[in-house]
Amino acid sequence: MHCPFCSENETKVIDSRLVADGHQVRRRRQCIACNERFTTFESAELVMPKVIKSNGNREPFNEDKLANGLHRALEKRPVSADAVELSLSMIKSKLRATGEREVSSDMIGNLVMDQLKELDKVAYIRFASVYRSFEDIKEFGEEIARLED
Ligand SMILES: [Zn+2]
Repeated sequence: MHCPFCSENETKVIDSRLVADGHQVRRRRQCIACNERFTTFESAELVMPKVIKSNGNREPFNEDKLANGLHRALEKRPVSADAVELSLSMIKSKLRATGEREVSSDMIGNLVMDQLKELDKVAYIRFASVYRSFEDIKEFGEEIARLED
């Protein structure tokens, strides 16, 4: 890329290292014309499938929405930010691994539940109770009983 200070198109990399658990490369660059230094981050652009909502509408995959759902379920639970980050990337790689161009929001919900089940049972129940909107307390009890097995 061009130097952001003088627009010279040659810059050299003076330092390069992996960040974000190896998912990004951070490069320190220096302009050969004006000698200014700046930083770039590089990460793979991965195509996520579109989401088919229950009403049939399609929408682009929204990582923030997914992260918010996880964070809401995990609010005040003893789960580290790293563990949540890892779950998010597991969900995304499973979605990409389907090779589908469109996936149902139900499928995403199930992937989230699989991750939460591993992370924290209370968070799992919270998410499931909203997502599956348990019809009655009996159904909720059955879900908890299944967890305890
Ligand atoms: Zn420059």
